[in-house]
Amino acid sequence: MPGFEIFGDEERKEVQDVLDTGVLFRYGFDQARKGHRKAKTFEAELSKLTGAQYCHLCSSGTAALSIALAACGVGAGDEVIVPPFTFVATIEAVLEAGAVPVFAEIDETLCLNPDAVNAVITPRTKAVLPVHMCGSMARIDEIKDLCDKKQLVLIEDACQAIGGSFNGKALGTFGQMGCFSFDPVKTITCGEGGAVVTNDENLYKIAEQYADHGHDHIGDDRGLEGHPVLGTNYRISELNAAVGLAQLRKLDYILKKQRVHKKAIKDALAQFPEVSFRRIPDENGDSATFLSFFLPDESKARKIAGELGNAGVDACFYWYDNNWHYLRQWDHLKRLKSAAKLPAELFEHCQNYDEINLPLSDKIIGRTISMLIKLSWTEEELSQRIEKIVEVIGKH
Ligand SMILES: *Cc1c(COP(=O)(O)O)cnc(C)c1O
Repeated sequence: MPGFEIFGDEERKEVQDVLDTGVLFRYGFDQARKGHRKAKTFEAELSKLTGAQYCHLCSSGTAALSIALAACGVGAGDEVIVPPFTFVATIEAVLEAGAVPVFAEIDETLCLNPDAVNAVITPRTKAVLPVHMCGSMARIDEIKDLCDKKQLVLIEDACQAIGGSFNGKALGTFGQMGCFSFDPVKTITCGEGGAVVTNDENLYKIAEQYADHGHDHIGDDRGLEGHPVLGTNYRISELNAAVGLAQLRKLDYILKKQRVHKKAIKDALAQFPEVSFRRIPDENGDSATFLSFFLPDESKARKIAGELGNAGVDACFYWYDNNWHYLRQWDHLKRLKSAAKLPAELFEHCQNYDEINLPLSDKIIGRTISMLIKLSWTEEELSQRIEKIVEVIGKH
């Protein structure tokens, strides 16, 4: 998965362009920048790649989620339906918006179950925020239909799923807005960075204004620009955008490599009747950043995950015990331990997160192991890895 495995002259060249001009800011300085607009170029290329009309590059995936929520009008007291299996940033962004996260069960796609989403909709529900976890997709067509029917905002957290698609349509382009992350461990990286995509010009405008203190970016005197909305600073620097631009141009290569590596490991695991695989609604659209599979029960899964690690099979994840990716270990959220009082606490309909019970999700995540798919494995390393995996699982 990680683009950092393949940094090279391409990234160096893009960064050098920026350093040569001395313009690290994405706006203005038209003469001094000598034609280099890394953030803007990145946005044009990501638009093209996803088929979304508009794209705004920002400082992180978390910022992208905050921007999308703000642009879509999700704010104080609004309920946002989220999955319990994600990186905790998804929930942080909802709380940051002053909104109230409402958890719904996932299914064997490892993403929100549309029926479970339907079951927790209330008159206060404003948005649904599915997460395309670990490189593959939610049942996004069904979730989209549900949102349309109930007139809910759909924002996709595609932070881990750039390059993924469902029936040929890019993940991140099904709802009002889609969010991507380019942090240091994502499929491609800016060092730190994120992006929102949309087909709605108005949402795009609010997004790019909000992410830069409300600047309307009209005219050539920044001090005289209008401020149609209050905003904040989620800008990306040209240096970060430059790294990302070189990485974005490697995405095809990355996806191809991941798919080959993933298939080899998956084929080898398929010989074990006790192993079953994550449900992927469209196999062709899998970005193949992870291979996720199920074992018959929690104790077996935990044991095998440990043994894989001991056998030197690195980058295996047992999410059920992980502190960052599954609700079970989010004690800080369960007790709403925040740095300062959260708007969500002011609303009576804010759930007591300590009492949330998601037995179906527990059952699924308890049995799940995910393996990160790396780019840099040589053929020999890959076959040694497969040998070790087969040996460990074969023992059970
Ligand atoms: C990485 C990630 C984020 C946050 O992205 P950052 O760029 O690290 O802020 C949000 N959601 C998911 C699912 C992620 O994996």
